[in-house]
Amino acid sequence: MTNHHDDGLRGRIPLSRRNFLAGAGVLAMGAASAGMIAGCSPAPAAESDAPAKGGAAMAETGAAAAATGNEGKTMGEVLGAGWLGEEPEIADDAIASVTDADIVVCGAGHAGTAVARRASELGKKVVVVEMQPEDTFSALGNDIGHLNSSWQVDRVGIPEYSVVDFMNEYQMYAAGRAQPTLISQFANRSGEALDWFIDGYTEQEKDELIPLNWPVVDGYQYKKGPFTSYVGTCQFGGSVGMTDAVKRSQDKAKAAGAQFVFGQAGVRLVHNEDGTEVTGLIAKDSNTGEYHQYNGDAVVLACGDIGSNSAMYNAICRENYELGEYKDCAAMSGRDGSGIAMGMRIGAKVEIATGGDMGSHAFIPLSPMEGIECLWLNKYGERYCNEAFGGPLLSGCAGAREPGDRAYLIWGGDWKEVFLNQLAGHLAPKEWDAETVANMEATMEAAIGSGAEGDDTSGKFLYCADTLEELCDFMGMEEGVKANALAAVEKWNAAGDAGADTEFGRDPETMWPIKQGPFYGYPCGKRIGGGSLVATSGLLVTGRQQVQGQGFEPIKGLFACGNNSGGRFPMGYNGIMNGVSIGMCLCLGYTLGEFLATEDFDRYEVKLEKYNKIMNIEIRAMKRLVRRDYLPAINRYAAKLANG
Ligand SMILES: Cc1cc2nc3c(=O)[nH]c(=O)nc-3n(C[C@H](O)[C@H](O)[C@H](O)COP(=O)(O)OP(=O)(O)OC[C@H]3O[C@@H](n4cnc5c(N)ncnc54)[C@H](O)[C@@H]3O)c2cc1C
Repeated sequence: MTNHHDDGLRGRIPLSRRNFLAGAGVLAMGAASAGMIAGCSPAPAAESDAPAKGGAAMAETGAAAAATGNEGKTMGEVLGAGWLGEEPEIADDAIASVTDADIVVCGAGHAGTAVARRASELGKKVVVVEMQPEDTFSALGNDIGHLNSSWQVDRVGIPEYSVVDFMNEYQMYAAGRAQPTLISQFANRSGEALDWFIDGYTEQEKDELIPLNWPVVDGYQYKKGPFTSYVGTCQFGGSVGMTDAVKRSQDKAKAAGAQFVFGQAGVRLVHNEDGTEVTGLIAKDSNTGEYHQYNGDAVVLACGDIGSNSAMYNAICRENYELGEYKDCAAMSGRDGSGIAMGMRIGAKVEIATGGDMGSHAFIPLSPMEGIECLWLNKYGERYCNEAFGGPLLSGCAGAREPGDRAYLIWGGDWKEVFLNQLAGHLAPKEWDAETVANMEATMEAAIGSGAEGDDTSGKFLYCADTLEELCDFMGMEEGVKANALAAVEKWNAAGDAGADTEFGRDPETMWPIKQGPFYGYPCGKRIGGGSLVATSGLLVTGRQQVQGQGFEPIKGLFACGNNSGGRFPMGYNGIMNGVSIGMCLCLGYTLGEFLATEDFDRYEVKLEKYNKIMNIEIRAMKRLVRRDYLPAINRYAAKLANG
């Protein structure tokens, strides 16, 4: 175990770093030459008071600020400055026990349990360290999103989805920033993982798992513009609850030989001096305070998200923090980010997400009908986006930046069509069954005749009127806002009639006319930033879920799964389907367990000597290019200038 670091080395790969500097030298040379050509003098070296000077200079002249001096540091050193802290120092003689295994998993939630079970079923010796006590262990959530399980297709009768469409749609949600191999694994294997997860359930138990947004109405269009509506997420909570389901999986892992240690929290990794190789984990017993060491060829961080660690959350899910105007971010998960912190402290990279959590980057107008794709208006009464663009979370991003704290939702008498024909997905309604529709009917009816008082039968204020003018008055719109709102409804209806929404590109099939009363309105405040269910950004990993350090090189022996890993939800928690978060943890836990048990993962380690040989060849080639092509040209130009 290494207790002390040389800070100059942490998380770095020394040889490639030297090469990087050599390469930077070549580029710097090119830049200096370019300066000569343009007749500029080189920038002066930064002085000790440069930042202050830089700021003042920028204010006066618009010039760039002084350099930060951060180049070459790890993300922990730069991003974590002030809050990440150091690894605890634990002397060798303070370790009460040492256990050797093939694979050490830290965290027995959705991801960790799946890794442990799959790897032990395939013959590996696995130890799982979980901080919760065994008797009160609980798992989060209810819904497992996935594609094409036998449960979904054969038992429930949901049509098979195209994995190709799914991957492309997912990357559109993610603006191309999700880790493609992980998304491919989810698209192709999440159904298999779900069937494996519920293997051994009785027929009745399988029948009692609830397929969300199923059945759909007759004539339901699964394609909505560029997106597919993925109905059929598997909800637990009937005869088998989510905690029970995860415990069943833990029991299967134990039966296959995995050892679960409850009541101990991982506090640091065992690693080499420069943080490029991990060989174990040290955990602290919450009752005795003793430390225990677990050694393995692979250590998997699966400790969940950063929900209760606001400093970390603010830094990593930066967009939420900005949109919430620096209200501290927090999530209901309650996980403290310890897994991500252990990785960052040895130099691992973390994903800086756009959004990065379940929805607090987006304005989601949760009306009494949930995140409904009716007509959305901003505080001026203007329509401002395609409300049906990829479900509430994706279309909610536009609203997040609209001015002020007010929005209005409007729909007509045919609310049932609006409700039952939208894109299924996170924060849209989960159920479209007869009971849900009957409850909704009661809510709508209660609003009729409630006038300017509105009605809060559903727990939210809903307004209802015979005319649109009256509805605007009931919602308290000023005259100018009302005029805009009425014009927006007119345009909406015209777009639906014309079969093209040239204003924002919404699929006209989903633009239910707002012509027949009674008319309904829901004015709401905008809640952006701050709180969500869970954060989904974590350590950057390769397609094999190996944690990445400096130079984006994988750290030998270190893997991250579930919400300890990033690169899965870069556009926040996209709304592509309900339960995609647990679905992702389960599926990628399953594939990681399989990878660790069946692959010689050493073959993916960097062979530094070979790598450096290639780098050196490239650098020599660049230097030759500069000497041969650029320098003579520069000299010729300089001579020309000198000769007038
Ligand atoms: C109220 C709520 C409802 C949700 N509902 C859904 C849903 O229905 N569908 C969905 O897809 N998503 C849902 N989510 C999100 C989902 O639960 C998470 O994304 C998911 O649990 C992440 O799984 P994980 O394995 O990464 O982490 P977790 O499930 O959080 O598991 C991490 C485990 O590691 C343990 N641990 C933490 N730190 C340490 C440590 N240092 N050492 C040892 N053990 C440690 C924890 O005790 C925990 O058991 C919900 C979230 C919340 C808060």
